[in-house]
Amino acid sequence: MPEFGTRSFFEATAAPRPERRPLGVDIDCEVAVIGGGVAGLSTALALARRGRNVAVFEAARVGDGASGRNAGFVAPGFSLPVVR
Ligand SMILES: Cc1cc2nc3c(=O)[nH]c(=O)nc-3n(C[C@H](O)[C@H](O)[C@H](O)COP(=O)(O)OP(=O)(O)OC[C@H]3O[C@@H](n4cnc5c(N)ncnc54)[C@H](O)[C@@H]3O)c2cc1C
Repeated sequence: MPEFGTRSFFEATAAPRPERRPLGVDIDCEVAVIGGGVAGLSTALALARRGRNVAVFEAARVGDGASGRNAGFVAPGFSLPVVR
């Protein structure tokens, strides 16, 4: 049984992630995405697939917010009415 402490289930049961040091150099990019949650990462991926030079800036760790603590899936259309 993994030790959870303050970690999410996913973090407690996942393979160790490498520590990433703060960015210590200036970089050029077309788009700076702030936040490595599902919103930021999916935005960055969509832009990168369209050929944009994107950088993601994450204050803590990727998936540190709600994205790393939810049920592990995204339900698109959650805000849409069930019956139109
Ligand atoms: C318990 C729980 C269960 C859920 N279940 C579901 C579900 O079943 N299905 C579903 O679709 N949704 C679910 N959700 C909602 C879903 O997880 C969130 O709506 C979604 O993850 C939000 O993603 P986000 O990228 O907007 O924010 P977050 O995942 O919170 O990401 C924001 C990121 O930005 C970083 N950040 C903040 N400020 C800065 C800054 N100044 N500079 C750099 N980085 C910064 C944070 O460290 C964080 O990593 C659930 C949420 C919770 C908490």
